[in-house]
Amino acid sequence: LGQSLRNFLKRNGLLTLSVLAVLTGCVLGFVLRGSQLSTQAKIYFSFPGELLMRMLKMLILPLITSSLMSGLSSMESKACCRMGVLTVTYYLWTTFIAVVVGILLVIIIKPGVGTDMESNRLGGGPVMTSADALLDLIRNMVPSNLIEATFQQYKTDLVPILKLPTRTIQPNFVYVVPDDSDPSGRTVYLELTPPPEVQYKTSPGSSQQMNVLGIVIFSATMGLLLGRMGERGAPLVNVCQCINECVMKIINAAVWYFPFGIIFLVAGKILDMQDPSTLGRKLGWYTLTVLAGLFVHGLILLPLFYFLLTRKNPFTYIRGLLQAMVIALATSSSSATLPITMKCLLENCHVDRQIARFVLPVGATINMDGTALYEAVAAIFIAQVNDYELDFGQLVTISITATAASIGAAGIPQAGLVTMVIVLTSVGLPPDDITLIVAIDWVLDRFRTMINVLGDALAAGIIAHLCRKDFPLSGAGKTLPSYGT
Ligand code: ASP
Repeated sequence: LGQSLRNFLKRNGLLTLSVLAVLTGCVLGFVLRGSQLSTQAKIYFSFPGELLMRMLKMLILPLITSSLMSGLSSMESKACCRMGVLTVTYYLWTTFIAVVVGILLVIIIKPGVGTDMESNRLGGGPVMTSADALLDLIRNMVPSNLIEATFQQYKTDLVPILKLPTRTIQPNFVYVVPDDSDPSGRTVYLELTPPPEVQYKTSPGSSQQMNVLGIVIFSATMGLLLGRMGERGAPLVNVCQCINECVMKIINAAVWYFPFGIIFLVAGKILDMQDPSTLGRKLGWYTLTVLAGLFVHGLILLPLFYFLLTRKNPFTYIRGLLQAMVIALATSSSSATLPITMKCLLENCHVDRQIARFVLPVGATINMDGTALYEAVAAIFIAQVNDYELDFGQLVTISITATAASIGAAGIPQAGLVTMVIVLTSVGLPPDDITLIVAIDWVLDRFRTMINVLGDALAAGIIAHLCRKDFPLSGAGKTLPSYGT
């Protein structure tokens, strides 16, 4: 037994440490909650976790650009096109299935029916339409300034932003002054009850998040063109390959810091969380419904698709991804987890590099099965709390908008909560009722991020199998001889 335990730890040492770190973080967080730490003390305490997040985020940009540029430059146009079409089709299809699973479960379980929760519409809050969301998605695909895209994403802000100087012109009315960056120059009167401590910005603006979608589109285009340039493009392709190799080396070294960082990341979050005793029965059922949906989709349906399409054991494949899933759980960000997902796919699942370099960055940007499922459940839950009967047409609208909203959501913590406004407004539900589910969202976010990451990684395995003729080295189970293409 001692020998087999030693062997197990040797093979899964990092994973075991990461799981232990999550558990230790939970215990530490709950123990310290009793000691009323000051805000300053909490900031110091969370510092190692903050460093972990910063490290991961630091790697996203070089990883995505170098992966896509070097990966796509060495592909034949036909193979590339086939892989692109298969990937996007598969992503859309599985996201839609996730939404259907969520809708079925929430209709069967009915978590919002009952009496312990009131709709708390504030009235007159900012509303974002599906058209706004679609325009934002397209705006992000075409960044006007590449440098800016590395730290800013175009987003119509929906949630209160503490920024604008406001002038109260009537007790409950706030005159919102458009700031200089507001291209539309709109001026908005909002009725707020009670009078606000926060101010709203309802005009398009930019958020302080990397525009990963814009960077993916630009790098993929560059990669395709570099491949067509032959000799002249080769130096830049070599540079990208070197950068990619270096990033993977940095990841290999950094992972040993992760368990330590995870402890403080998780504990810090628990220190900040709202008192769980304030969460009612309905919210409990809602949480269970989302978790059940994620379980069914992530551990039954997606593995089934993997098996049907590849005839390989999905759970052997998923075992290789556990490290990435623990990081997703700890960080709530599929973009931040991307470096580790890439490492797991290449080293444990042995997916062809060219495929992984394309399918993963694109997936981390547009494929969020967990988020789509959660958005559909949350919207119908809010309808149930409001005693609002949704007809079949509205359910179809929810399934389409939830799919679209998940595509538009960035791979960052709680992005899904923001894009959910699109789903709510599409069927006439009050967007302010998002406040009903905010308290529990940070927990659900962690689990849906795990499923988002799992969905991307399983997709890479499936696409590698389906394209194995175009990429003779692809497919799980084969070790690639060397780095590079
Ligand atoms: N946190 C999720 C992710 O990064 C997005 C979301 O659902 O909020 O994948």
